[in-house]
Amino acid sequence: MAKESQNKNTGDRSRRRPALALLLVILIAAAFFIMSDAPLVKNARDSLMHRLGYEAIDQENGSESTGENSDDKNSGIKAAEWDTASDIDPASLPEYNGQNYVKVSDGVPAFPDDVYERGGLIKDGGDWKTKGNLFGTVDSNKLTPYEYYGSLDDKGRCTCAYGLLGEETMPQDGQERGDISSMHPSGWAKAQNWERCHLIAWALSAENANPSNLITGTHYLNYDGMRPLEEEVEHYIWNTGNHVLYYVKPWFTGNELVARGVQMTAWSVEDKGEGISFNVYCFNVTPNAEIDYKTGIVTTEEQAAQDARVYVINTRSGVFHYPTCDGVKEMSEHNKKTVTATRTELTSQGYTPCGACEP
Ligand SMILES: [Zn+2]
Repeated sequence: MAKESQNKNTGDRSRRRPALALLLVILIAAAFFIMSDAPLVKNARDSLMHRLGYEAIDQENGSESTGENSDDKNSGIKAAEWDTASDIDPASLPEYNGQNYVKVSDGVPAFPDDVYERGGLIKDGGDWKTKGNLFGTVDSNKLTPYEYYGSLDDKGRCTCAYGLLGEETMPQDGQERGDISSMHPSGWAKAQNWERCHLIAWALSAENANPSNLITGTHYLNYDGMRPLEEEVEHYIWNTGNHVLYYVKPWFTGNELVARGVQMTAWSVEDKGEGISFNVYCFNVTPNAEIDYKTGIVTTEEQAAQDARVYVINTRSGVFHYPTCDGVKEMSEHNKKTVTATRTELTSQGYTPCGACEP
């Protein structure tokens, strides 16, 4: 009796076996279809998703809206020309109107494929994911954090800096900042209150005295423009352990040596821009001061309003001083030229204010 029932059970089980095997095959095939990165499978999947009406957020197409909006002051800025210096028409840059920064491409970040791929991301239709993952999903452990600093151009100007930033690229515990006071980025002029501005902040990159990462910037650019955005990214990384694609480009016009401004673009990878997503242009200006972007000479409103007075020019170096400056005492009579002029007259003639007496 017991034997018969046992046989009966075995019979049931053997009838169920092919059904289970078929189900298993279907599941494996489905998993392969969803996760495979083979081009043929990927294309089939993308076309299926498309037919189902699934529209992935296409980062590359984010810039399509540029120029559509006529009251957008940034409509003139095109997506960055990667790796190259940017001798762009100043008229195409947004005008400073009191904002620390303005949006580029409606604020939607966009990067070339290479920037994603170097970080370990692969294209998945219009989306990005890490290899072997479900559509558009990212596994932090499969990412490759990196930093890239473009070479200086033939005028010694920074070109761009970008990377996939995370805790891995940040300064490690106890890592000390080096001295950067001897660095002179393009357009650096003494005694004009210039600051050495990192393209990718030390806090994000642990990159300090790298000439490809330092530009001549105003305190306003450094602290009011870039700093809040850098801190947003820094806090996000600390809080989540996630990674952020990050791109910074100084914009120069013509042969000028001081950047007019800096474009900053960032996008958090694991959450697809939920945490961090911006594309902005920060102004390299000082409110109420005029900057000569060719020479780095800054003229404040007060200086511009000064009456003509006596200055001593060193005709050999082209530097001008107050008559009381020690530099004048040391100057050879041969090079000494005393003039009565305004500061603006002298700077517009190409003379440079002394770094010691700061006329
Ligand atoms: Zn002097």
